[in-house]
Amino acid sequence: MGQRALVTGSSSGIGLAIARALLEAGAEVWVHGLASPAEVDALLHDLRLVGPAHFVGGDLSDPAAIVGMIEACPPLDILVNNAGIQFTAPIGEMPAAQWDRILAINLSAAFHTMRLTMPGMGQRGYGRVINIASVHGLVASIHKSPYVAAKHGLIGLTKVAALEYAALGDRASGGITANCICPGWVETPLIEPQIAARAAAHDGDRVAGVKALLAEKQPSQRMSRPEDIAALVVFLCRTEAHNLTGAALPVDGAWTAQ
Ligand code: NAD
Repeated sequence: MGQRALVTGSSSGIGLAIARALLEAGAEVWVHGLASPAEVDALLHDLRLVGPAHFVGGDLSDPAAIVGMIEACPPLDILVNNAGIQFTAPIGEMPAAQWDRILAINLSAAFHTMRLTMPGMGQRGYGRVINIASVHGLVASIHKSPYVAAKHGLIGLTKVAALEYAALGDRASGGITANCICPGWVETPLIEPQIAARAAAHDGDRVAGVKALLAEKQPSQRMSRPEDIAALVVFLCRTEAHNLTGAALPVDGAWTAQ
């Protein structure tokens, strides 16, 4: 288990659960996201009851801010690229600015954090890069062109990193691994607009909206909880996971088994 971790986009949702789980597992965690000073205070107050937590800012759509974010952290053992955004529209109606923004935050930001942190991991013999992709890194859905393109790209980027670093480190140190986790539906603020759209078709009934969303794609008919994704991140950080690298691991209730 590494000691120093950065989790991007950990002021909310899946990232927050990952930050908490890494703290519980004994890591020192740099929490990150777009949050007001009051939100940061509340977040750190909460997380410091669990373990040593710090906050670092930085808008991931800006490569210079990413450099600043990494420079504000110590040398990292664990990098979780989790921050992500969504915007849905048919290709013909997708604003070009949304394409650029989603590609920048959901894909290019991970390239920048990886290029800035992986060489140090290689020198120290232990490193974990865990990129939160999506089922949409493996299969497509309508109206999500930039999101699907970015998540497929993230899986490709992660495979390259896994290959380049596969032979560094050893079994005792844990080596350097790079993997993607590919969740199906996880109940977080990110998917609220999509739940709301389905709920609107059921007289505003949110439970019916969630059910409708699951019925389309996720055979388990169950949402994942952010904690479920976080538990897999913690496993990937263990030395026993030294040979689990270059993988795109679905946590999707058999969505991509179809
Ligand atoms: P969320 O909206 O709850 O959290 C997103 C986080 O990213 C927040 O901390 C936010 O501050 C941060 N963020 C957004 N834009 C940013 C920017 N420009 N700069 C810096 N930080 C920024 O979302 P979530 O559902 O927890 O999603 C986390 C990751 O999981 C995303 O990459 C998402 O694509 C992926 N994912 C989510 C689901 C799901 O069903 N919720 C499914 C598959 C994959």
